[in-house]
Amino acid sequence: MGKYLFWGVVALGLLVGTRILARKAAGQGPKRSAFKFKTAQDDQKAESMVRCAHCGVHLPRSEATLIGGNTWCSDDHAKLGVKNS
Ligand SMILES: [Zn+2]
Repeated sequence: MGKYLFWGVVALGLLVGTRILARKAAGQGPKRSAFKFKTAQDDQKAESMVRCAHCGVHLPRSEATLIGGNTWCSDDHAKLGVKNS
């Protein structure tokens, strides 16, 4: 009887131990990234910014429209053309 009780306690201890370790590992990941400060350098590494030739707004290259060698924030501004102001 004592033998079964011993192995029961060992099994329970392992279950609780692994659960605590798993929770610690899962909880540490997001916390570390949340405290990481984002810098301008990180943004540049992620994606280069381009300027709309019409209104001058800066936007990520992937969101810009490239027509006639110029970058535009939208199709409407591409139609309107380059604005010099
Ligand atoms: Zn624009």
